Amino acid sequence: PVRVRFAPSPTGSLHIGGVRTALYNYLLARKTGGKFIIRIEDTDQTRFVEGAEDYIMEALRWCGITADEGVVEGGPHAPYRQSERKAMYMQYAMQLIESGNAYYAFDTPDELEAMRERLKAAQVPDPKYNAITRLSMKNSLTLPEDEVKARIAAGEPYVIRLKVPRKEEVRLNDMIRGWVMVHSATLDDKVLMKSDGMPTYHLANVVDDHLMEITHVIRGEEWLPSAPTHVLLYKAFGWEETMPRFAHLPLLLKPDGNGKLSKRDGEAHGFPVFPLAWKQTDEATGEIKTVAGFREEGYLPEAVVNFLALLGWNPGTQQELFTFDELVEAFTVERIGKSGTKFDINKAKWFNQQYLRQKPDAELAKHLLEDVQKNGLSCSAETAEKIVGLVKERAVFYKDLWTEAEFIFVRPTAYDESVAASKWNTDAVKVLTDYQAAVAAAAPLTHDSAKALLNEILEKHGLKIGKVMQAVRLAVTGRGAGPDLMHIMEILGNQETAERIGHALQ
Ligand code: GLU
Repeated sequence: PVRVRFAPSPTGSLHIGGVRTALYNYLLARKTGGKFIIRIEDTDQTRFVEGAEDYIMEALRWCGITADEGVVEGGPHAPYRQSERKAMYMQYAMQLIESGNAYYAFDTPDELEAMRERLKAAQVPDPKYNAITRLSMKNSLTLPEDEVKARIAAGEPYVIRLKVPRKEEVRLNDMIRGWVMVHSATLDDKVLMKSDGMPTYHLANVVDDHLMEITHVIRGEEWLPSAPTHVLLYKAFGWEETMPRFAHLPLLLKPDGNGKLSKRDGEAHGFPVFPLAWKQTDEATGEIKTVAGFREEGYLPEAVVNFLALLGWNPGTQQELFTFDELVEAFTVERIGKSGTKFDINKAKWFNQQYLRQKPDAELAKHLLEDVQKNGLSCSAETAEKIVGLVKERAVFYKDLWTEAEFIFVRPTAYDESVAASKWNTDAVKVLTDYQAAVAAAAPLTHDSAKALLNEILEKHGLKIGKVMQAVRLAVTGRGAGPDLMHIMEILGNQETAERIGHALQ
Protein backbone atom coordinates (compact mmCIF):
# COMPACT_ATOMS: atom_id res chain seq x y z
CA PRO A 1 0.00 0.00 0.00
CA VAL A 2 1.10 3.52 -0.78
CA ARG A 3 2.37 5.53 2.18
CA VAL A 4 3.38 9.11 1.51
CA ARG A 5 4.36 11.92 3.80
CA PHE A 6 4.55 15.68 3.91
CA ALA A 7 7.52 16.58 6.07
CA PRO A 8 7.67 20.33 6.65
CA SER A 9 10.23 22.02 8.85
CA PRO A 10 8.64 24.61 11.14
CA THR A 11 11.12 27.28 10.12
CA GLY A 12 8.60 29.84 8.95
CA SER A 13 5.35 30.07 7.12
CA LEU A 14 4.47 27.50 4.55
CA HIS A 15 5.14 28.84 1.06
CA ILE A 16 2.38 28.13 -1.43
CA GLY A 17 4.75 25.67 -3.16
CA GLY A 18 4.80 23.67 0.07
CA VAL A 19 1.02 23.45 -0.05
CA ARG A 20 1.31 22.09 -3.57
CA THR A 21 3.77 19.43 -2.35
CA ALA A 22 1.36 18.42 0.41
CA LEU A 23 -1.51 18.34 -2.07
CA TYR A 24 0.25 16.04 -4.54
CA ASN A 25 1.16 13.64 -1.75
CA TYR A 26 -2.40 13.74 -0.48
CA LEU A 27 -3.85 13.13 -3.95
CA LEU A 28 -1.64 10.12 -4.51
CA ALA A 29 -2.63 8.65 -1.15
CA ARG A 30 -6.33 9.15 -1.81
CA LYS A 31 -6.12 7.88 -5.35
CA THR A 32 -4.43 4.65 -4.32
CA GLY A 33 -6.29 4.10 -1.08
CA GLY A 34 -2.99 4.66 0.73
CA LYS A 35 -2.03 6.71 3.75
CA PHE A 36 -0.97 10.34 3.99
CA ILE A 37 1.32 11.20 6.88
CA ILE A 38 2.38 14.55 8.27
CA ARG A 39 5.77 14.53 9.95
CA ILE A 40 7.29 17.62 11.50
CA GLU A 41 11.02 17.88 10.84
CA ASP A 42 12.19 20.13 13.63
CA THR A 43 15.69 18.87 14.36
CA ASP A 44 17.33 22.14 13.38
CA GLN A 45 16.63 24.09 16.53
CA THR A 46 18.49 27.16 15.33
CA ARG A 47 15.86 27.65 12.65
CA PHE A 48 12.82 26.88 14.78
CA VAL A 49 10.08 29.49 14.51
CA GLU A 50 7.37 29.78 17.14
CA GLY A 51 3.91 29.23 15.72
CA ALA A 52 5.11 27.82 12.43
CA GLU A 53 3.85 24.32 13.07
CA ASP A 54 0.35 25.52 13.96
CA TYR A 55 0.40 27.69 10.88
CA ILE A 56 1.27 24.74 8.64
CA MET A 57 -1.48 22.61 10.15
CA GLU A 58 -4.06 25.34 9.82
CA ALA A 59 -3.09 26.02 6.22
CA LEU A 60 -3.48 22.37 5.27
CA ARG A 61 -6.80 22.14 7.10
CA TRP A 62 -8.04 25.21 5.26
CA CYS A 63 -7.23 23.50 1.96
CA GLY A 64 -9.02 20.34 3.02
CA ILE A 65 -5.80 18.32 3.20
CA THR A 66 -6.12 15.99 6.16
CA ALA A 67 -3.65 13.43 7.42
CA ASP A 68 -4.20 9.80 8.25
CA GLU A 69 -1.26 9.82 10.62
CA GLY A 70 0.60 12.76 12.08
CA VAL A 71 1.33 15.04 14.99
CA VAL A 72 -2.36 15.75 15.54
CA GLU A 73 -3.86 12.42 14.47
CA GLY A 74 -1.28 10.14 16.05
CA GLY A 75 -0.77 6.72 14.49
CA PRO A 76 1.23 3.50 14.64
CA HIS A 77 4.57 5.29 14.18
CA ALA A 78 4.06 8.05 16.74
CA PRO A 79 5.58 10.39 17.65
CA TYR A 80 5.52 12.23 14.33
CA ARG A 81 7.57 15.20 15.50
CA GLN A 82 11.28 14.54 15.05
CA SER A 83 12.37 16.42 18.16
CA GLU A 84 10.31 13.86 20.12
CA ARG A 85 12.05 11.02 18.30
CA LYS A 86 15.49 12.35 19.18
CA ALA A 87 16.50 9.32 21.27
CA MET A 88 16.02 6.96 18.32
CA TYR A 89 18.47 8.40 15.88
CA MET A 90 21.75 7.79 17.70
CA GLN A 91 21.44 4.01 17.42
CA TYR A 92 21.13 4.32 13.65
CA ALA A 93 24.19 6.53 13.46
CA MET A 94 26.02 3.97 15.57
CA GLN A 95 24.91 1.22 13.22
CA LEU A 96 26.62 3.08 10.39
CA ILE A 97 29.77 3.61 12.43
CA GLU A 98 29.92 -0.09 13.18
CA SER A 99 29.43 -1.07 9.56
CA GLY A 100 32.14 1.37 8.49
CA ASN A 101 29.74 3.70 6.67
CA ALA A 102 30.14 6.61 9.06
CA TYR A 103 32.81 8.06 11.33
CA TYR A 104 33.36 10.47 14.20
CA ALA A 105 34.84 13.84 13.34
CA PHE A 106 36.34 16.19 15.92
CA ASP A 107 37.18 19.19 13.77
CA THR A 108 36.49 22.56 15.29
CA PRO A 109 34.73 25.25 13.25
CA ASP A 110 38.10 27.03 12.90
CA GLU A 111 39.76 23.92 11.56
CA LEU A 112 36.98 23.41 9.06
CA GLU A 113 37.26 27.01 7.96
CA ALA A 114 41.03 26.68 7.58
CA MET A 115 40.53 23.59 5.45
CA ARG A 116 38.12 25.44 3.19
CA GLU A 117 40.55 28.33 2.86
CA ARG A 118 43.35 25.94 1.94
CA LEU A 119 41.25 24.34 -0.75
CA LYS A 120 40.13 27.67 -2.11
CA ALA A 121 43.72 28.84 -2.28
CA ALA A 122 44.48 25.69 -4.26
CA GLN A 123 41.67 26.72 -6.63
CA VAL A 124 39.37 23.86 -5.70
CA PRO A 125 36.04 25.22 -6.93
CA ASP A 126 33.65 23.62 -4.46
CA PRO A 127 35.53 22.62 -1.29
CA LYS A 128 34.24 19.47 0.35
CA TYR A 129 34.80 17.24 3.31
CA ASN A 130 35.27 14.06 1.30
CA ALA A 131 37.39 10.99 0.65
CA ILE A 132 40.45 13.16 -0.01
CA THR A 133 40.19 15.98 2.48
CA ARG A 134 39.02 13.79 5.35
CA LEU A 135 42.55 12.30 5.41
CA SER A 136 43.99 15.52 6.70
CA MET A 137 41.32 16.16 9.30
CA LYS A 138 40.70 14.99 12.85
CA ASN A 139 38.37 12.06 12.71
CA SER A 140 38.07 8.41 13.59
CA LEU A 141 39.50 7.45 10.21
CA THR A 142 42.75 9.32 10.80
CA LEU A 143 43.21 9.20 14.59
CA PRO A 144 44.25 6.05 16.49
CA GLU A 145 41.30 4.18 17.95
CA ASP A 146 42.41 4.83 21.57
CA GLU A 147 42.57 8.51 20.98
CA VAL A 148 39.10 8.55 19.47
CA LYS A 149 37.76 6.74 22.52
CA ALA A 150 39.61 9.02 24.88
CA ARG A 151 38.35 12.16 23.19
CA ILE A 152 34.76 10.94 23.31
CA ALA A 153 35.14 9.86 26.93
CA ALA A 154 36.55 13.29 27.77
CA GLY A 155 33.40 14.86 26.41
CA GLU A 156 35.05 16.52 23.43
CA PRO A 157 32.42 17.65 20.91
CA TYR A 158 32.12 15.54 17.79
CA VAL A 159 29.85 15.01 14.85
CA ILE A 160 29.16 11.80 12.97
CA ARG A 161 29.69 11.97 9.23
CA LEU A 162 28.61 9.73 6.39
CA LYS A 163 31.58 8.03 4.76
CA VAL A 164 30.79 8.68 1.12
CA PRO A 165 32.53 6.15 -1.13
CA ARG A 166 35.36 7.65 -3.13
CA LYS A 167 34.45 6.37 -6.56
CA GLU A 168 30.93 5.32 -7.11
CA GLU A 169 28.14 6.15 -9.50
CA VAL A 170 25.10 6.99 -7.38
CA ARG A 171 21.88 6.46 -9.31
CA LEU A 172 18.25 6.99 -8.64
CA ASN A 173 15.25 6.58 -10.87
CA ASP A 174 13.14 9.62 -10.19
CA MET A 175 9.50 9.21 -11.16
CA ILE A 176 9.49 12.63 -12.77
CA ARG A 177 13.04 13.13 -14.05
CA GLY A 178 13.97 9.56 -14.88
CA TRP A 179 17.47 8.35 -14.12
CA VAL A 180 19.61 10.77 -12.17
CA MET A 181 23.28 9.88 -11.87
CA VAL A 182 25.86 11.56 -9.71
CA HIS A 183 29.46 10.65 -9.07
CA SER A 184 30.17 10.17 -5.38
CA ALA A 185 33.25 12.41 -5.65
CA THR A 186 30.87 15.38 -6.00
CA LEU A 187 29.21 14.63 -2.66
CA ASP A 188 30.14 15.78 0.82
CA ASP A 189 30.63 13.51 3.79
CA LYS A 190 27.42 14.95 5.18
CA VAL A 191 27.05 15.36 8.93
CA LEU A 192 24.50 12.85 10.21
CA MET A 193 24.64 13.61 13.95
CA LYS A 194 25.43 17.08 15.20
CA SER A 195 27.52 17.82 18.26
CA ASP A 196 24.36 18.63 20.23
CA GLY A 197 23.16 15.05 19.77
CA MET A 198 20.52 16.02 17.25
CA PRO A 199 20.37 14.25 13.91
CA THR A 200 20.63 16.34 10.76
CA TYR A 201 17.82 16.49 8.23
CA HIS A 202 19.48 13.78 6.12
CA LEU A 203 19.71 11.15 8.83
CA ALA A 204 16.37 11.84 10.46
CA ASN A 205 14.59 12.04 7.13
CA VAL A 206 15.90 8.71 5.84
CA VAL A 207 15.51 6.88 9.14
CA ASP A 208 11.95 8.11 9.56
CA ASP A 209 10.94 7.40 5.98
CA HIS A 210 12.21 3.89 6.54
CA LEU A 211 10.56 3.38 9.93
CA MET A 212 7.30 4.91 8.76
CA GLU A 213 7.33 2.61 5.74
CA ILE A 214 7.13 5.43 3.26
CA THR A 215 6.76 4.17 -0.30
CA HIS A 216 6.97 7.42 -2.28
CA VAL A 217 8.84 10.62 -1.50
CA ILE A 218 7.18 13.47 -3.36
CA ARG A 219 8.96 16.73 -2.61
CA GLY A 220 10.23 19.92 -4.17
CA GLU A 221 13.06 19.97 -6.68
CA GLU A 222 15.25 21.84 -4.20
CA TRP A 223 15.76 18.47 -2.49
CA LEU A 224 17.06 16.73 -5.60
CA PRO A 225 20.71 17.52 -4.71
CA SER A 226 20.18 15.74 -1.37
CA ALA A 227 18.70 12.64 -2.96
CA PRO A 228 22.04 10.94 -3.83
CA THR A 229 23.11 11.27 -0.19
CA HIS A 230 19.82 9.68 0.79
CA VAL A 231 20.34 6.84 -1.67
CA LEU A 232 23.79 6.24 -0.14
CA LEU A 233 22.21 6.18 3.30
CA TYR A 234 19.62 3.59 2.26
CA LYS A 235 22.46 1.48 0.89
CA ALA A 236 24.59 1.93 3.97
CA PHE A 237 21.72 0.79 6.17
CA GLY A 238 20.98 -2.14 3.89
CA TRP A 239 17.49 -0.80 3.23
CA GLU A 240 17.72 -0.67 -0.56
CA GLU A 241 14.91 -3.18 -1.02
CA THR A 242 12.38 -0.90 0.62
CA MET A 243 13.83 2.42 -0.48
CA PRO A 244 10.95 4.76 -1.40
CA ARG A 245 10.51 5.93 -4.95
CA PHE A 246 11.42 9.57 -5.43
CA ALA A 247 9.44 12.21 -7.30
CA HIS A 248 10.96 15.69 -7.32
CA LEU A 249 8.39 18.30 -8.25
CA PRO A 250 9.30 21.04 -10.73
CA LEU A 251 9.92 24.50 -9.33
CA LEU A 252 7.32 27.22 -9.19
CA LEU A 253 8.74 30.07 -11.25
CA LYS A 254 8.36 33.82 -11.06
CA PRO A 255 5.50 35.20 -13.19
CA ASP A 256 7.96 36.08 -15.98
CA GLY A 257 9.53 32.63 -15.80
CA ASN A 258 12.87 34.09 -14.73
CA GLY A 259 13.94 32.06 -11.76
CA LYS A 260 12.34 30.51 -8.75
CA LEU A 261 9.26 32.09 -7.18
CA SER A 262 10.27 33.71 -3.92
CA LYS A 263 8.46 35.21 -1.00
CA ARG A 264 9.62 38.61 -2.15
CA ASP A 265 7.86 38.26 -5.53
CA GLY A 266 4.56 38.40 -3.72
CA GLU A 267 5.35 41.80 -2.27
CA ALA A 268 6.81 43.08 -5.52
CA HIS A 269 3.77 42.08 -7.59
CA GLY A 270 1.07 42.38 -4.95
CA PHE A 271 -0.03 38.78 -4.87
CA PRO A 272 -0.07 36.29 -2.02
CA VAL A 273 2.59 33.58 -1.81
CA PHE A 274 1.40 32.19 1.53
CA PRO A 275 -1.80 30.23 2.08
CA LEU A 276 -2.70 32.23 5.21
CA ALA A 277 -1.64 35.54 6.70
CA TRP A 278 1.81 35.45 8.22
CA LYS A 279 3.66 37.84 10.48
CA GLN A 280 7.02 38.71 9.04
CA THR A 281 9.88 40.66 10.42
CA ASP A 282 11.32 43.11 7.97
CA GLU A 283 15.01 42.27 7.80
CA ALA A 284 16.07 45.85 7.29
CA THR A 285 13.93 47.66 9.85
CA GLY A 286 13.08 44.87 12.27
CA GLU A 287 9.45 45.93 12.00
CA ILE A 288 6.83 43.19 12.26
CA LYS A 289 4.14 43.25 9.63
CA THR A 290 1.42 40.88 8.57
CA VAL A 291 1.50 39.65 5.01
CA ALA A 292 -1.90 38.53 3.72
CA GLY A 293 -2.31 35.01 2.44
CA PHE A 294 -4.65 33.56 -0.15
CA ARG A 295 -7.32 33.17 2.52
CA GLU A 296 -7.23 36.81 3.62
CA GLU A 297 -7.14 38.01 0.01
CA GLY A 298 -10.50 36.33 -0.44
CA TYR A 299 -9.56 33.18 -2.29
CA LEU A 300 -11.75 30.14 -1.80
CA PRO A 301 -9.87 27.05 -0.69
CA GLU A 302 -11.36 24.96 -3.49
CA ALA A 303 -10.06 27.48 -6.03
CA VAL A 304 -6.58 27.44 -4.49
CA VAL A 305 -6.52 23.64 -4.51
CA ASN A 306 -7.62 23.49 -8.14
CA PHE A 307 -5.09 26.17 -9.10
CA LEU A 308 -2.23 24.39 -7.31
CA ALA A 309 -3.17 21.00 -8.72
CA LEU A 310 -2.68 22.32 -12.24
CA LEU A 311 0.54 24.12 -11.36
CA GLY A 312 2.87 21.36 -12.45
CA TRP A 313 0.42 18.56 -13.16
CA ASN A 314 -1.96 18.24 -16.09
CA PRO A 315 -4.82 15.84 -16.66
CA GLY A 316 -3.98 15.28 -20.33
CA THR A 317 -7.35 16.76 -21.30
CA GLN A 318 -8.76 20.27 -21.65
CA GLN A 319 -10.59 20.05 -18.33
CA GLU A 320 -9.59 22.77 -15.89
CA LEU A 321 -12.24 22.74 -13.20
CA PHE A 322 -11.89 19.82 -10.84
CA THR A 323 -13.62 19.07 -7.59
CA PHE A 324 -11.41 17.47 -4.97
CA ASP A 325 -12.89 14.07 -5.84
CA GLU A 326 -12.26 14.60 -9.51
CA LEU A 327 -8.65 15.53 -8.79
CA VAL A 328 -8.21 12.35 -6.79
CA GLU A 329 -9.68 10.40 -9.67
CA ALA A 330 -7.56 12.05 -12.37
CA PHE A 331 -4.23 12.46 -10.55
CA THR A 332 -1.16 10.46 -11.57
CA VAL A 333 2.49 11.16 -10.80
CA GLU A 334 3.29 10.35 -14.44
CA ARG A 335 1.49 13.49 -15.57
CA ILE A 336 3.57 15.83 -13.41
CA GLY A 337 5.71 17.97 -15.71
CA LYS A 338 9.50 18.11 -15.71
CA SER A 339 9.93 21.81 -16.26
CA GLY A 340 9.16 24.66 -13.90
CA THR A 341 5.73 26.25 -13.94
CA LYS A 342 5.16 29.99 -14.05
CA PHE A 343 3.14 31.32 -11.18
CA ASP A 344 0.25 33.14 -12.84
CA ILE A 345 -1.96 34.86 -10.29
CA ASN A 346 -4.53 35.67 -12.97
CA LYS A 347 -5.15 31.98 -13.33
CA ALA A 348 -5.80 31.76 -9.59
CA LYS A 349 -8.28 34.63 -9.93
CA TRP A 350 -10.00 32.89 -12.81
CA PHE A 351 -10.43 29.77 -10.72
CA ASN A 352 -11.80 31.85 -7.87
CA GLN A 353 -14.32 33.46 -10.17
CA GLN A 354 -15.48 30.06 -11.40
CA TYR A 355 -15.95 28.73 -7.88
CA LEU A 356 -17.60 31.91 -6.64
CA ARG A 357 -20.23 31.63 -9.38
CA GLN A 358 -21.05 28.13 -8.27
CA LYS A 359 -22.01 29.26 -4.79
CA PRO A 360 -25.74 29.43 -4.06
CA ASP A 361 -27.13 32.98 -4.30
CA ALA A 362 -28.15 32.80 -0.64
CA GLU A 363 -24.52 32.26 0.32
CA LEU A 364 -23.31 35.10 -1.88
CA ALA A 365 -26.07 37.33 -0.50
CA LYS A 366 -24.78 36.76 3.04
CA HIS A 367 -21.40 38.15 2.03
CA LEU A 368 -22.94 41.08 0.21
CA LEU A 369 -25.12 41.88 3.23
CA GLU A 370 -22.07 41.98 5.48
CA ASP A 371 -20.52 44.64 3.31
CA VAL A 372 -23.80 46.51 2.97
CA GLN A 373 -23.98 46.69 6.75
CA LYS A 374 -20.34 47.68 7.05
CA ASN A 375 -21.23 50.66 4.90
CA GLY A 376 -24.01 51.65 7.25
CA LEU A 377 -26.74 50.57 4.86
CA SER A 378 -29.34 47.86 4.91
CA CYS A 379 -31.31 45.68 2.57
CA SER A 380 -33.50 42.60 2.82
CA ALA A 381 -32.07 39.13 2.28
CA GLU A 382 -34.44 38.73 -0.63
CA THR A 383 -33.21 41.86 -2.37
CA ALA A 384 -29.60 40.93 -1.65
CA GLU A 385 -30.20 37.61 -3.40
CA LYS A 386 -31.68 39.37 -6.40
CA ILE A 387 -28.69 41.69 -6.52
CA VAL A 388 -26.06 38.97 -6.34
CA GLY A 389 -27.90 37.16 -9.11
CA LEU A 390 -27.27 40.24 -11.22
CA VAL A 391 -23.67 41.02 -10.35
CA LYS A 392 -22.05 37.69 -9.50
CA GLU A 393 -20.73 37.12 -13.02
CA ARG A 394 -18.51 40.14 -12.54
CA ALA A 395 -17.14 39.17 -9.15
CA VAL A 396 -13.83 37.41 -8.57
CA PHE A 397 -13.96 37.66 -4.78
CA TYR A 398 -16.81 38.02 -2.30
CA LYS A 399 -15.77 41.62 -1.71
CA ASP A 400 -16.36 42.40 -5.39
CA LEU A 401 -20.08 41.77 -4.90
CA TRP A 402 -20.27 45.00 -2.94
CA THR A 403 -18.09 46.93 -5.37
CA GLU A 404 -20.16 45.73 -8.29
CA ALA A 405 -23.46 46.44 -6.51
CA GLU A 406 -22.57 49.66 -4.74
CA PHE A 407 -24.33 51.80 -7.35
CA ILE A 408 -27.60 50.12 -6.42
CA PHE A 409 -27.26 51.33 -2.83
CA VAL A 410 -25.65 54.66 -3.47
CA ARG A 411 -27.02 57.14 -5.99
CA PRO A 412 -24.60 58.21 -8.68
CA THR A 413 -22.90 61.49 -7.93
CA ALA A 414 -20.86 61.45 -11.10
CA TYR A 415 -21.55 60.17 -14.58
CA ASP A 416 -19.13 58.33 -16.81
CA GLU A 417 -17.89 61.21 -18.96
CA SER A 418 -16.87 59.23 -21.99
CA VAL A 419 -20.32 57.70 -22.29
CA ALA A 420 -22.07 60.99 -21.59
CA ALA A 421 -20.11 62.72 -24.34
CA SER A 422 -21.33 60.35 -27.03
CA LYS A 423 -24.71 59.20 -25.79
CA TRP A 424 -26.29 62.14 -24.03
CA ASN A 425 -28.23 64.02 -26.70
CA THR A 426 -31.63 65.62 -27.31
CA ASP A 427 -33.23 62.26 -28.18
CA ALA A 428 -32.02 60.81 -24.91
CA VAL A 429 -33.30 63.80 -22.95
CA LYS A 430 -36.73 63.55 -24.61
CA VAL A 431 -37.04 59.84 -23.86
CA LEU A 432 -35.75 60.17 -20.30
CA THR A 433 -38.13 63.03 -19.52
CA ASP A 434 -41.11 60.94 -20.56
CA TYR A 435 -39.71 57.84 -18.93
CA GLN A 436 -39.26 59.58 -15.60
CA ALA A 437 -42.92 60.61 -15.58
CA ALA A 438 -44.11 57.18 -16.72
CA VAL A 439 -42.08 55.35 -14.10
CA ALA A 440 -43.27 57.66 -11.32
CA ALA A 441 -46.90 56.99 -12.24
CA ALA A 442 -46.66 53.27 -12.96
CA ALA A 443 -47.51 50.25 -10.82
CA PRO A 444 -44.47 48.79 -9.03
CA LEU A 445 -41.80 48.15 -11.66
CA THR A 446 -40.88 44.72 -12.80
CA HIS A 447 -38.23 43.83 -15.32
CA ASP A 448 -40.94 43.39 -17.96
CA SER A 449 -42.99 46.47 -17.13
CA ALA A 450 -39.90 48.68 -17.04
CA LYS A 451 -39.05 47.47 -20.49
CA ALA A 452 -42.61 47.83 -21.82
CA LEU A 453 -42.82 51.41 -20.55
CA LEU A 454 -39.57 52.32 -22.25
CA ASN A 455 -40.63 50.68 -25.50
CA GLU A 456 -43.89 52.64 -25.58
CA ILE A 457 -42.00 55.91 -25.27
CA LEU A 458 -39.46 54.93 -27.89
CA GLU A 459 -42.25 54.07 -30.28
CA LYS A 460 -43.93 57.42 -29.67
CA HIS A 461 -40.70 59.21 -30.61
CA GLY A 462 -39.89 56.79 -33.43
CA LEU A 463 -36.54 55.84 -31.86
CA LYS A 464 -34.71 52.57 -31.63
CA ILE A 465 -33.71 51.27 -28.21
CA GLY A 466 -30.05 51.03 -29.18
CA LYS A 467 -29.88 54.81 -29.60
CA VAL A 468 -30.80 55.67 -26.02
CA MET A 469 -30.17 52.61 -23.93
CA GLN A 470 -26.78 53.72 -22.68
CA ALA A 471 -28.10 57.12 -21.75
CA VAL A 472 -30.83 55.49 -19.65
CA ARG A 473 -28.21 53.35 -17.98
CA LEU A 474 -26.03 56.38 -17.36
CA ALA A 475 -28.95 58.25 -15.77
CA VAL A 476 -29.88 55.38 -13.47
CA THR A 477 -26.45 54.06 -12.55
CA GLY A 478 -23.88 56.67 -13.52
CA ARG A 479 -21.97 53.94 -15.32
CA GLY A 480 -21.57 53.08 -18.97
CA ALA A 481 -21.87 49.34 -18.52
CA GLY A 482 -23.25 46.87 -16.03
CA PRO A 483 -25.76 44.14 -15.45
CA ASP A 484 -29.26 44.07 -16.93
CA LEU A 485 -30.75 47.52 -16.45
CA MET A 486 -34.39 46.44 -16.30
CA HIS A 487 -33.58 44.18 -13.38
CA ILE A 488 -31.73 47.00 -11.69
CA MET A 489 -34.77 49.28 -12.00
CA GLU A 490 -36.99 46.54 -10.59
CA ILE A 491 -34.73 46.41 -7.55
CA LEU A 492 -34.50 50.18 -7.20
CA GLY A 493 -38.27 50.61 -7.46
CA ASN A 494 -40.32 53.37 -9.10
CA GLN A 495 -39.50 56.27 -6.86
CA GLU A 496 -35.75 55.76 -6.70
CA THR A 497 -35.56 55.13 -10.45
CA ALA A 498 -37.58 58.24 -11.25
CA GLU A 499 -35.59 60.40 -8.88
CA ARG A 500 -32.28 59.21 -10.34
CA ILE A 501 -33.49 60.02 -13.84
CA GLY A 502 -34.71 63.39 -12.62
CA HIS A 503 -31.34 64.14 -11.09
CA ALA A 504 -29.53 63.19 -14.28
CA LEU A 505 -31.76 65.48 -16.31
CA GLN A 506 -31.02 68.52 -14.14
N1 GLU B 1 11.93 18.94 6.04
C1 GLU B 1 12.08 19.06 4.62
C2 GLU B 1 11.37 20.33 4.20
O1 GLU B 1 11.33 21.22 4.95
C3 GLU B 1 11.52 17.82 3.96
C4 GLU B 1 12.08 17.53 2.62
C5 GLU B 1 11.65 16.16 2.21
O2 GLU B 1 10.46 15.99 1.90
O3 GLU B 1 12.47 15.25 2.24
O4 GLU B 1 10.86 20.49 3.12
